[in-house]
Amino acid sequence: MIRPDMKKIFLSLLTIFIFLIAVMLFNTFTFDSQQVHVDPVPKIDIPASAKEHMSQAITIPTVSNEDPSKIDSAAFFRFHEFIKTTYPLADSLLGITKINTFSLIYEWKGTDPSLKPVILMGHMDVVPVAEENIDKWDHPPFGGEIRNGMIYGRGAIDDKVSVIGNLEAVELLLSRGFQPNRTIYLCFGHDEEIGGINGATAIVEHLKNKGVKAEFVLDEGFAISQGLVPGIDKDVALIGTAEKGFVSLKLSVALEGGHSSMPGEESAIDVLARAVVKLKDNPFPAEVTQPVNDFMDHLGPEMPFTQKVAFANRWLLEPVIMNSFSESASGSAMLHTTTAPTIFNAGIKENVIPYTANATVNFRILPGTSIQDVKNRVASLINDDRIVIGEGSFNSEAPQSSSTDSHGFVTIRNTIKEIFPEALTSPNLVVGATDSRYYYPLSDDVYRFTPIHLTPETIKTFHGINERLSVEDFENAIRYYVRLIENATSSIE
Ligand SMILES: [Zn+2]
Repeated sequence: MIRPDMKKIFLSLLTIFIFLIAVMLFNTFTFDSQQVHVDPVPKIDIPASAKEHMSQAITIPTVSNEDPSKIDSAAFFRFHEFIKTTYPLADSLLGITKINTFSLIYEWKGTDPSLKPVILMGHMDVVPVAEENIDKWDHPPFGGEIRNGMIYGRGAIDDKVSVIGNLEAVELLLSRGFQPNRTIYLCFGHDEEIGGINGATAIVEHLKNKGVKAEFVLDEGFAISQGLVPGIDKDVALIGTAEKGFVSLKLSVALEGGHSSMPGEESAIDVLARAVVKLKDNPFPAEVTQPVNDFMDHLGPEMPFTQKVAFANRWLLEPVIMNSFSESASGSAMLHTTTAPTIFNAGIKENVIPYTANATVNFRILPGTSIQDVKNRVASLINDDRIVIGEGSFNSEAPQSSSTDSHGFVTIRNTIKEIFPEALTSPNLVVGATDSRYYYPLSDDVYRFTPIHLTPETIKTFHGINERLSVEDFENAIRYYVRLIENATSSIE
């Protein structure tokens, strides 16, 4: 028999439980879709020459070399010459400024100088193809071959699709006699893959000196995911409203060395290895930042019921969500400032204990955390003054998140709905670094989105083997940029 006081406890627990379930169900059923309805637009014809242009662009190996003094200037000059002759209207009707010889700004003057301009970005440079991997490509990485509806080659998705896609769009609009009301800038950097120091930063400096304040900026970023967002079968267009910061810390130790037959208590290798292990064993805590919160708000309502319950009740179930995100490297990267040892150097001979050991640890930093925060945490975790902590040269603070209500966001999103009506849209945190991080002095509204599809298969080709883009995706990218320019420059304010 249950004792009366036990019964009371049981009843009150039951009441709390039922109340919780009721609250959770209420939250779930009122967790409304954020998807907007926009009518699709008819597909415009894309000239057959467009894909040939993309193919030719890929054959020009505008490879970024880690050493900026080793820039392959001939390839970049050829690329300039190629776009000059391929896009004669843009070349003759738009203002063109070369920045640090290799980067380009196209200025398409708007009819209404009171309107703020729009900046569309891309980068002309590509990452190299490792010698030992050339054979692994189905088609040569700089061949630009089109096979079975796919354009193969380095730069197909990163990022010649943005450069050539935008130029095709502008040329097409110019041929129709289109006049934008606000000025459009096309800004093409030449060194994004090595940090954008001579390209993007100098472009921004130039525009800033001209007094440019932009309505919004659109750069490469994520794309339309197919099967990459767990729990969602539909296509999802992810618009980067923020990106992570970046710092590499160089750890070095100098201790007494000696002969390996009589090792001392601790060598430089021991000390440094222990420090690196400490950093790996103590990851930064998980945190839901603004862009990730926005992501959950936009995609949670589209999820199957159980996930929807979780996303609608983050006040209670956040730890569960964090656990499931942390199961994949990509999910984990959205919630953590990540720690990745990337270089470890010590020793030159098997029987000599080295005096010095050096390591580089790369951190990708969540918005809201500063480089100084990272340094402080690393110093206190290592807690060993024999280790000197220095900074690498290409560091960037995580920029602020851009609005999801701005004219820019709404235009980018609505244009996605017009061209890719089957896709859901969502804000997103871009975990890699893009040139757009330098553009904040020109606008608060900086977004990252490339209008192509990425699948679990094609995402591996990004900086990898068999980088490729379907002709259909390329043509839709042109349709996207055409429509984006129309929407951004002819709408009523
Ligand atoms: Zn890129």
